[in-house]
Amino acid sequence: MRVTIKVLREIGEFGLINRIRKWITSSNPSLLQGIGDDVAVIEMGMKSLLVTTDILIEGIHFNRSWIDPYQLGRKALAVNLSDIASMGGTPKYFLISIGLPKNLPLPFVSSFYRGLKMEAKQFRVELIGGDTSLSQKIVINICLLGEEKKQNLLFRKGARVGDDLFVSGTLGDAALGLKILQERGKIKGTEGLINKHLSPCPRVELGQTIAKHHWATAMIDVSDGLLIDTSHLLEESGVGARVWEDRIPLSRLYRKWVHSFSKDPFQFALSGGEDYELLFTAPGKMGKRISSLSHSLKIPITRIGKILPQKEGLRMIGKDGKKYSPSCLGFEHFK
Ligand code: ADP
Ligand code: MG
Repeated sequence: MRVTIKVLREIGEFGLINRIRKWITSSNPSLLQGIGDDVAVIEMGMKSLLVTTDILIEGIHFNRSWIDPYQLGRKALAVNLSDIASMGGTPKYFLISIGLPKNLPLPFVSSFYRGLKMEAKQFRVELIGGDTSLSQKIVINICLLGEEKKQNLLFRKGARVGDDLFVSGTLGDAALGLKILQERGKIKGTEGLINKHLSPCPRVELGQTIAKHHWATAMIDVSDGLLIDTSHLLEESGVGARVWEDRIPLSRLYRKWVHSFSKDPFQFALSGGEDYELLFTAPGKMGKRISSLSHSLKIPITRIGKILPQKEGLRMIGKDGKKYSPSCLGFEHFK
């Protein structure tokens, strides 16, 4: 009998994570959330401890010819801050492990740490340690710790049928910015898009405000693409959703440049990664409070869809009002 051995390409990043989740089960009652959300949550008395980690690898997540070390330092921390933001948590401390090639100029490392320090200062978090190793390519891994009262936390699970689906900011700018860098370099007039890719701004204050007022039922940050992150939220909540294409928030620059890089004007907004916006669900009666929060924080928040029973899956509603099932949901490693 021939045994077929699967390779990672066949199951993808999320197929692998689902398997890891089955291999490793925890029965510790203090673990409020293990594998399966943006952040792990551990009960620690009055407050919960939040723990998240993210890796950046040269040639996979960044390219030294596009991003400078200062921006890289800021971004390495920003992507972790975004995960704490998606729980409504308060980031506090972080550790950083770096793998570096031996011919790397020292000023690269000092600029990287300047960026890291600036991002840490802005979000009031402190570096408390890490690890350093030789590596052929630059590898950066941050583990960020945070805290929050248990009752204020928002998970991927919790969305209910009938809830509205909201997203902050505009979508697709970072993915289009990356595409521009890859195909044409830093061309004039596209700086706003490129900066969204190089210097993401985590929505920490927005996440905390939404969570502490108990307006939302579930939340996730959009890091791999709107549709794939929506599908994670739906899966964890055991629901489906409809998303209206003409409600997807697009920036002026996105609308101006998207046609030069894709036939599908929604490609980057629906399945491009690295928006680091917040996607959340809330009952209809919260709509007014959410729009006044959007005004006071000066961050757009758009109602883009509706939560449906699980059997409906994730449906897009096109401009013509017709339903369609999207083919590519977003970025996934190994695929
Ligand atoms: P995010 O995009 O928010 O960073 P991921 O898709 O990377 O989330 O991870 C989803 C969940 O799987 C998280 O709970 C994360 O901690 C967990 N996870 C990811 N990779 C691994 C791994 N190699 N081993 C164990 N858990 C993992
Ligand atoms: Mg996340």
